[in-house]
Amino acid sequence: MAWDFETDPEFQEKLDWADEFVRNEVEPLDHVWGGLEFFPLDDTRRKVVDPLKQQVRDHDLWAAHLGPELGGKGYGQLKLSLLNEILGRSRWAPIIFGTQAPDTGNAEIIAHYGTPEQKERYLQPLLDGEVFSCYSMTEPHAGADPKMFKTRAERDGDEWVINGWKFFSSNASTASFLIVMAVTNPDVSAYQGMSMFLVPRDTPGVNIVKNFHVGGGGHEHDPGHALIHYDNVRVPADAVLGGEGQAFAIAQTRLGGGRIHHAMRTIATCKKALDMMCERALSRETQGSLLADKQFVQGYIADSYAQLMQFRLFVLYTAWSIDRHKNYLKVRKDIAAVKALMPQVMHDIVMRATQVHGALGVTTDMPFTNMLIGSVVMGLVDGPTEVHKVTVARQLLREYRPSDDIWPTQTIPKLEAAAREKLAEFIEHEVGNL
Ligand SMILES: Cc1cc2nc3c(=O)[nH]c(=O)nc-3n(C[C@H](O)[C@H](O)[C@H](O)COP(=O)(O)OP(=O)(O)OC[C@H]3O[C@@H](n4cnc5c(N)ncnc54)[C@H](O)[C@@H]3O)c2cc1C
Repeated sequence: MAWDFETDPEFQEKLDWADEFVRNEVEPLDHVWGGLEFFPLDDTRRKVVDPLKQQVRDHDLWAAHLGPELGGKGYGQLKLSLLNEILGRSRWAPIIFGTQAPDTGNAEIIAHYGTPEQKERYLQPLLDGEVFSCYSMTEPHAGADPKMFKTRAERDGDEWVINGWKFFSSNASTASFLIVMAVTNPDVSAYQGMSMFLVPRDTPGVNIVKNFHVGGGGHEHDPGHALIHYDNVRVPADAVLGGEGQAFAIAQTRLGGGRIHHAMRTIATCKKALDMMCERALSRETQGSLLADKQFVQGYIADSYAQLMQFRLFVLYTAWSIDRHKNYLKVRKDIAAVKALMPQVMHDIVMRATQVHGALGVTTDMPFTNMLIGSVVMGLVDGPTEVHKVTVARQLLREYRPSDDIWPTQTIPKLEAAAREKLAEFIEHEVGNL
């Protein structure tokens, strides 16, 4: 019996603990220190945050995305998904559990492609939860098409010199280092001509020109998303991650994991919105009955539940497939499909929850407008929905062949003729017996 929807009891106990812990101990941090998650800890916050992180370690849930060789438990993506369904409720929870984006993806590629020296310098402090990192890929003139990137790195003796502009580099202003994608050989295709560089943020020439903030959401303290001018930034030859020309391969490794992790956390947001919708439906009366008794509202609830279950099962299936194949590329179609589905599911459920709350729903006293903007962000971050749909279609079409003549293979007369030929002996016998 290979298919099974049960969580093993030992891990279920950990999930139950995590659920209570996040609700009671971590969510309060969102309300007092929201937006400060990606800032190095000051003495006051450290007094609260370090003991919480220690509790997570004591329950063997620290950095659950990592294998044992990197200080995690090697739970795999399926169990991580179940955990992320809980952590996605809270801004601070991923930090307290050592699984926050973009640091998870950045840690993953340094672990995969880094030299021992790079791992010691950049990976270890990241895994210890002491520093933050930034992934600096998108440019002001080009995002969805990395082949158009212009930021250039040129060799000068023992150094690389980086020049160019990057846009929407999240958390750059509080990160201790940046992973920068740059053209190293403009004479070959972009797939071979770009490289990744590990650049300490305090390197001269790393100029953060402006921090952009997502409208209608986020938090006033949020570090935001930086426009960076790399102006003659000099790094040593060994700052290249994974070898020259490897940037595309590295980006695929990073974004494969990142996309599915966003989807796991999105389940939590959708569940929260559905919980709030149901509570409101049972609490608010109009025209003589509860909202819960109105068929339109029942429709909102039923549609939301069904959408969430479909999405959740797809995410869990994809996580299970990643564990099985241990290769994001082999699961590319489903990761892209989940990524394309995510903004729509989140938008639909949050919209209905907002609507059921009436005017209160659109106020800053409620989390819905943040969630709604979040659904738009999910349609952009790590690549726009349209691009993922194209990936799904292309991958799916590879599994098919064209018909061998002008009529579709499933044309009934064609099928009949083929069937008659196959069963000719018996049909003749049948006719003979008439
Ligand atoms: C909150 C947030 C955080 C982010 N953090 C980071 C980060 O840390 N590091 C980083 O490097 N980047 C980051 N990004 C940038 C993100 O990766 C890009 O926004 C994304 O790749 C899209 O690029 P773009 O914004 O330049 O849009 P464009 O490439 O200009 O695309 C604009 C629109 O055109 C359409 N479109 C694009 N391509 C196609 C196509 N092939 N077919 C059909 N339609 C298409 C889509 O509707 C798309 O939304 C972040 C973005 C957000 C919103």
